[in-house]
Amino acid sequence: MASVKSIVPEFEAANQKYAASFTKGSLPLPPGRKVIVLVCMDARLDPAKLLGLEEGDAHVIRNAGGRAADALRSVVISQQLLGTREIVVIHHTDCGMLTFTDSELKSKVRKDLNEDADHIAFLSFKDLKQSVLDDISLLKKNPLVLDIPITGYVYDVKTGKINKVEA
Ligand SMILES: [Zn+2]
Repeated sequence: MASVKSIVPEFEAANQKYAASFTKGSLPLPPGRKVIVLVCMDARLDPAKLLGLEEGDAHVIRNAGGRAADALRSVVISQQLLGTREIVVIHHTDCGMLTFTDSELKSKVRKDLNEDADHIAFLSFKDLKQSVLDDISLLKKNPLVLDIPITGYVYDVKTGKINKVEA
């Protein structure tokens, strides 16, 4: 096997520094600001920094695209067991989810891995604003999700600003 240098030693060194000055050891389990932030996993977005969140503040649920269908399990746990009462959905400009279709990715998996991924909805999208509206709508319509405020934004990776999405 070709030798690939692991990131792990760097993580362990960084964590030693973090833990050395750690002061958040007595936070309660439920998020203090009672909010779920559903956001794309894109490496350029730092939800804590861009929204002013601290440890203990929020449930940040991340997945490819920040898609609601992929987050339902966590949303129900957060609302039913940990008291969150608001949801903020954040998708972003230049999202990778705009660059492929589900059928293209399924074909690639079939070719490269010789496996079938037909049972997975990859939830790619072609219209960024509409993807936010669709996810708000999916959450609002789902009877397992509480009837609470849900706000959608598009984060601009060029400016660092969030822009509200309204129907
Ligand atoms: Zn993205």
